[in-house]
Amino acid sequence: MPEGPTVKRFQLHCSSFVGQGVTKVGGSTKQMNPDDLKGLMLQDTQVLGKNLFLAFGGVQEAATSHEGSSTEPSEPGSSSQGMGLDRGSPILQSWEGGKADSGGPGGPLQEEHEADLPSFMDDTAGPPWKWLRFHFWLYGSVRANEFARANKANKRGDWKDPVPRLVLHFDRGGFLVFYNCRIHSCSSPTAEPATDILSLEFDQERALGALCKAVPVCHTLLDQRYFSGLGNIIKNEALYLAKIHPLSLGSLLPLPELRSLLDHAVRFASEWFINKQQRGRQHWQIYQKERCPEGHQVRKEAFGPPDGLRRLTWWCPQCQPQVGQEEDEDLSTRGS
Ligand SMILES: [Zn+2]
Repeated sequence: MPEGPTVKRFQLHCSSFVGQGVTKVGGSTKQMNPDDLKGLMLQDTQVLGKNLFLAFGGVQEAATSHEGSSTEPSEPGSSSQGMGLDRGSPILQSWEGGKADSGGPGGPLQEEHEADLPSFMDDTAGPPWKWLRFHFWLYGSVRANEFARANKANKRGDWKDPVPRLVLHFDRGGFLVFYNCRIHSCSSPTAEPATDILSLEFDQERALGALCKAVPVCHTLLDQRYFSGLGNIIKNEALYLAKIHPLSLGSLLPLPELRSLLDHAVRFASEWFINKQQRGRQHWQIYQKERCPEGHQVRKEAFGPPDGLRRLTWWCPQCQPQVGQEEDEDLSTRGS
C-alpha cells in the first residue's frame, strides 16, 4: 500500500497543476462523475496520512474562455471568490486555523458523505471549493503527463495497459492520471496534522501515550488515529531498528525503548520521503527479507488486532527478543 511518503510524492505531481483549469476528463471511475470537474480549476493539494486531497473550485476567466461557453460553472455565484491560491480563503483559514471541524479530539478522518457523491458540485450552500479524497489501495498511483504501460502480458498473452480511474487534462496541455484508487468527495481534509507522522505538527507525546497501552506495539503502530501515514513497511522497519519484538505489549516496555521506536518510525518515514523526491531507492532491513542484516533467520507471520486487519510481519527473533514471554505467546496464538 502506498504509505505516507509515496502519497506525498503523488502530491508533488499534482501541485504543479494548481491554478490550471480542467479542460478534458476521462477514466473508468464510477465513484464520481469526472464530467463534474470539467471547467473547474485545481485550487489546492493536501496530503494527510495515506490520503491525497485535491481541491477544485470556481472557473478562472482564462479557463472559461479557453473552454468556451458550453461548460457553465455550477456555482456562478462563487466564481469571483476563493480564486487562485488566496491564503485568505475560508477553507484554508478553517484548515490552518485549527481543528474546529475535525470531528473532535483524536477523531480519525471524517467519513465522506456518501450521499454527496453523485452531485459533486451541486452543494451551492457550501464553500466555493470542493475536495476530492484519493485513497490508493495496494497498487494505486498518480502519473503526470504519461500513462502507465503494461509491464507484463496477461493470462491470455495480451499486453494490456492499466485502465486509469481518472484522467484530468489541463489548459496548459499537461495531464494527470490516477490509477487504482478510491475517489470520494468530501467537505475538507479533516484529519488532524497532529496525527500525521510526516507533519511538523505531529504530536509525539500523544503517539507515545498510545504506544504505552497494554496492546502489542505492532498493532498500535498501524492505528491511523495516532500514526496517520504509517503503514506496514514502516512498522516492520521501525520495530527492527528499535530492536523490539512486534508482539511486545507497550505497557511492558520501558519508556526509552518506546521513544526509540517512535523516533525510528518518524525518521524512517522522513528519509523515505526525501529518498522518493530524489528518486532514490529506500533500503529495507527486515521487510520481506529472509535474513536480517546480522545474518539471522527472519520469521514471518500475520499479526493484527482481534477486530482488525492482520498484516504480514517480519522480525528477527535474535535481534528483537520477546519480553514477557508468557503473555506474548498467548497473544501470538490468538493473533495468528
Ligand atoms: Zn537478527
